[in-house]
Order: sequence, then structure tokens, then C-alpha cells
Amino acid sequence: NATRLIGKTVLVTGASSGIGAATAVLFAKGGANVILLARRAEALAKVAEACAAAHKESGLHQGGRFAAVQLDVSDKKQIADLWTKVPQELRDVDILVNNAGFVKGLEHVGDINEQEVEEMFATNVLGLISMTQLLVRDFKKKQSGHVINLGSIAGIEPYAGGSIYTATKHAVNAFSGSLLRELVNTPIRVTEIQPGNLCSYTFIPGMVETEFSIVRFRGNEEAAKKVYDGLEPLTGQDIAEEIVWAAARPPHVNIAQVLVFPVNQA
Ligand code: NDP
Repeated sequence: NATRLIGKTVLVTGASSGIGAATAVLFAKGGANVILLARRAEALAKVAEACAAAHKESGLHQGGRFAAVQLDVSDKKQIADLWTKVPQELRDVDILVNNAGFVKGLEHVGDINEQEVEEMFATNVLGLISMTQLLVRDFKKKQSGHVINLGSIAGIEPYAGGSIYTATKHAVNAFSGSLLRELVNTPIRVTEIQPGNLCSYTFIPGMVETEFSIVRFRGNEEAAKKVYDGLEPLTGQDIAEEIVWAAARPPHVNIAQVLVFPVNQA
């Protein structure tokens, strides 16, 4: 029942493109307020405009406040200063969507760029942990809240060329599972959404067609597109629908994990 989202305040990291952008817009359509976080201010502002348009179109008269906040989740200082950049009326967050994340390169061990290793862990793991720490303290105080983490099939199945990315997503999976167990018997819910495909079947996973694949191939759009040759990939919207669905369950229902694949595999 989507009416459960009306007037809620949602914080989405990595909201400037792909799954995060689609999620922000879908929450806006459902009558929520949304705080959008990412590093690219211009792209973020456009998504915030799309949120306002979706909310207007919905005809709902609650929610509909949006704040685009330029923030790098790998920077602990920026996270510590977050609330100074968020309007007062949006500081009482109900749902945190930890979506910011990326993979760069598919090199095998021995050829991996060490700086990229640090960047991936700093965003995919440490950023997600810092954001969760910040919000869970508030959730515990008010005894309500929902943490929704973007994991991946890469958090379950390793693959050749995925040593670092799969290590980061295994960490997200372990962290989400521990958090779920810590908060069991409280009204605070924890969900992990795991998009992907059967890694054991195909060489290159990552079946949601977003900028993810372009980042993975370091800007080579042709190589990024080739991954989806001959099949219909998932869209950011497909995953956003799972996220919003999990958030809109009745308060006594906790969707712990959702594994989403496209019907066809490369
Ligand atoms: P996109 O590349 O489209 O989106 C990633 C988002 O994360 C962007 O908005 C980017 O914004 C943001 N981001 C990256 N680094 C940072 C940072 N340090 N601080 C703040 N924001 C950051 O990819 P997707 O939408 O596909 O990916 C979203 C999530 O889904 C990721 O966690 C990814 O691992 C996961 N996933 C994706 C799959 C796929 O096939 N696409 C499959 C499985 C999981 P900006 O550059 O403006 O900061």
C-alpha cells in the first residue's frame, strides 16, 4: 500500500543517476519528501526537479519537499557535516537508501589499481557504514526507521575479475545481515536489495543498465553497452520498484533480502 509513504522522509545516496535517481523519483511520486545525495551537483539538481514534477503529477498534497545535497559518501567529514546542509524540516529521516556504489575495472589480481581498490571500499563499504551509523542512532532514539542497502549478486557469488567489487558487496551483505539481527524485535527494519544475474553463467555481471557499466569500463560506452547484447537488461526503474515496495510494506513486515535478475542471461 503506497499510501504508507505519504509524508515520509527518505534519504537516497547516489541519487544523481541510475537506480538512485529512479528511486528518488518513485518515492516523490508516492508522496514522500526526499533528500538526494551524490557528488555531481548538476545531475542531482535535475533529479530533484524530476522529483518535484512527479510529486506534482501525483496530485498528493503531503510530502513533496526535496533537497539536493552535494556529498561524497567516502568523505567522513562531509558526512559529519550533512545536517548543516539539509533544511531543518527534512532532518527527521524515516528511510535511508544506501545506494551509492560503483566498480572500476575487471582486472585480475596482480594488475589491480590500488587507488581504485581504496576508492571502491571507501564508497561501497565505509561510506555505507558511516551513513548507517549516523541514521541508525536517530532511528534508535525514535524507535522507527528503515535501512535499505544496495547489495548485489556480487555479494553472494564471486567471479573472475571481480575480486574487489565482490569483496565490497560481500561486506555489504555481511553488514546488512548483522544489522538486521541487531535490530530484530525493534520497529527498525533492514532490507538488502541484490540486483544482478547468475555470475556462474555469464562472464560479466551487472544486469541493470545504468551508468554503472560505463564507470566499470572507465567511460568506454561501447564496451559498456556490449554487456547487454541480445538480452533485455533490468532498468533503474525495475530496482526502484523493489526498493519502494519493500518500504511500503506494513510496519510489522520486514523484507530482509530481494534478489532480482533479468529473465534472460547473456
Ligand atoms: P550508477 O553509476 O548509475 O549510479 C551510482 C550512483 O552512486 C551515482 O548517482 C553516483 O553519483 C553515486 N556515487 C558514486 N560514488 C559516490 C560517492 N563517493 N559519494 C556519493 N555518491 C556516489 O549505477 P547504479 O544505479 O547501477 O548503481 C547503484 C547501486 O546499485 C550501486 O551500489 C551498485 O553497486 C548497485 N548495483 C548495480 C548493478 C547494475 O547492474 N547496475 C547490479 C548490482 C548492484 P555521483 O557520481 O554524482 O557521485
